[in-house]
Amino acid sequence: MAKIAINIATGSLQQDEMIVGIDLGTTNSLVAIIHPESKNPVALKEHNASSLVPSVIHFGSSGELVVGDEAKQYLVTDPAHTIFSAKRLMGKTYNDVAGNASSLAYKIIDDEGRLVKVQVDDRFYSPVDLSALILKELKVKAEHILKTTVGKAVITVPAYFNDAQRQATRDAGKLAGLDVLRIINEPTAASLAYGFGIKKDEAKTIAVYDLGGGTFDISILTINDGIFEVLATNGDTFLGGDDLDMAVVNYWVGKNTFAEDKNETKQQLRLKAEEAKKYLSANDVFTGTFQNENISLTKDEFETIIKPIIDKTITCCGNALKDSGLTKKEIDEVIMVGGSTRTPLVKKMVSDFFGKQVNDTVNPDEVVALGAAIQADILAGNTKDLLLLDVTPLSLGLETMGGLMDVLLPRNSKIPAKAARQYTTYKDGQSGMKIAVYQGERDMVQDNRKLAEFNLSGIPGMPAGLPKVEVSFLINADGILVVKAKELRSGIEQAIQVKPQYELTDEDVEKMLLDSMQNAEKDIATRALVEARTEGEQLLETTEKFIQKNIAALTPEEITATSLAMQALQLSLDMQDKNLIQAKTEELNAISRPYAERIMDQSVSLAMKGKAV
Ligand code: ADP
Ligand code: MG
Repeated sequence: MAKIAINIATGSLQQDEMIVGIDLGTTNSLVAIIHPESKNPVALKEHNASSLVPSVIHFGSSGELVVGDEAKQYLVTDPAHTIFSAKRLMGKTYNDVAGNASSLAYKIIDDEGRLVKVQVDDRFYSPVDLSALILKELKVKAEHILKTTVGKAVITVPAYFNDAQRQATRDAGKLAGLDVLRIINEPTAASLAYGFGIKKDEAKTIAVYDLGGGTFDISILTINDGIFEVLATNGDTFLGGDDLDMAVVNYWVGKNTFAEDKNETKQQLRLKAEEAKKYLSANDVFTGTFQNENISLTKDEFETIIKPIIDKTITCCGNALKDSGLTKKEIDEVIMVGGSTRTPLVKKMVSDFFGKQVNDTVNPDEVVALGAAIQADILAGNTKDLLLLDVTPLSLGLETMGGLMDVLLPRNSKIPAKAARQYTTYKDGQSGMKIAVYQGERDMVQDNRKLAEFNLSGIPGMPAGLPKVEVSFLINADGILVVKAKELRSGIEQAIQVKPQYELTDEDVEKMLLDSMQNAEKDIATRALVEARTEGEQLLETTEKFIQKNIAALTPEEITATSLAMQALQLSLDMQDKNLIQAKTEELNAISRPYAERIMDQSVSLAMKGKAV
């Protein structure tokens, strides 16, 4: 069932293959795909087994290693060689995590301010290595179930992951032999799995409450015409189901006489507590034995002891809401993610807080992976009726001073996409600004394709450099570009819709790319000359005005020196010699700077620095 697709960036044919979605979790990881027949997202599992692979690695004494359920058993018997929660270390230095090192039973080392490493006997592993081992296990397992090779994946990360952490996750994928097509946010994936944001023209605000094994995140997202935007995130990277287990352990220890001083006993009691916790998600009383003593826990007792922990998550929800600037009423949906949201009290307290029923219809342990699979399928081009998150085949930008192309959305930006930049005027009292939109890779707009032009008019009279015109590009899922220009001080605004790919064939795209490569050197030289000229011309203009305005404050020597330097600069401009222009610009600057600084008022200072369209 392979499909043939055309790569719009290169015009070449490419063979589609299975792309999987992976939730690389702190506690559990899993793989999901879109089922080829039912077209529904499904988590991969062997018969009768769980889809979850515990994110645990055990290193045996003679170098053999196991990942997942088998490794989890060693948490009790061989903690020094059993690594869990490696995700917490991603992109972190020793100092970042040292405060929490005591919660880890394995050894992390201080590598002089560099990224943290884990030590197992005489071997050292980076968090990237460890994550790669988990991903490799997932890949092998998926290949075994699917009976085909799995080479491409979409991997999820928490919304608060920074660039370094995202890059580390990508690297881990690469190390595991996966081509990571995209890293997406866990709350975004969860929203996709709930079917939000898939329909075009949908606008929704969603709160994603994710309580996992050791971490808690709350994210507030908006979805607008296929664009997911994270408005706020909050949470606690050391708060999760493990804390509920520990609360139960402490409760039992208080009531019973068994010795919990031995590390191993403690771990076993912890597992018992987890068992009780899970049981109480669907029952009212748990009974069992531990070290020949009867133990029990009712749902009421359990809820009383865990309430303070859930309260902490509710505080985080309040913070996130505050940061997002929204009210509870403005949240359209509250979705439940993470195994710990199976606990009824969690759902109840979250519903009470938001004042609405929570949405918990998708399996909370699988929801993130299912969303990643949906994203993977969209990337594979299999879901034509769904939102197509694609890339721009050519760069999109504006014409700036001197006919230069100023790129706002580089080629290969994923669609939907958004970018904005501020510009200013270069003439005093300038009331209009031409906004010309181009597509292409060349440095001069004349070599690119013009898509649209409009005029932002009605800018109130201000000195040059003072108006702040924000130009924003927004490409929606259909590939329609909306260009908006807004003068921020006065609020005047204009917008236009453009179809960037209009009448552009794959050959056109290919030719434009080829052109840009062949002309790269020439373009760089032209750009440098234009930039130098623009700077020189602007300096001449502002100096001229400055002198006229401040003639009384200048000495005769200053006036003579300036006038000579201006003539020299004008001459260099006529000669079109970049180096000479730069030298003469610098000379004029050197002469005018001392007195300009002396008497310059703020508006002129801005005019001399401003970047103008
Ligand atoms: P992560 O995203 O951190 O990898 P998960 O979403 O897989 O974690 O959540 C794991 C947590 O969910 C564990 O603490 C586990 O005990 C808890 N959990 C799993 N099933 C249940 C259940 N039925 N009731 C309560 N908690 C559960
Ligand atoms: Mg998770």
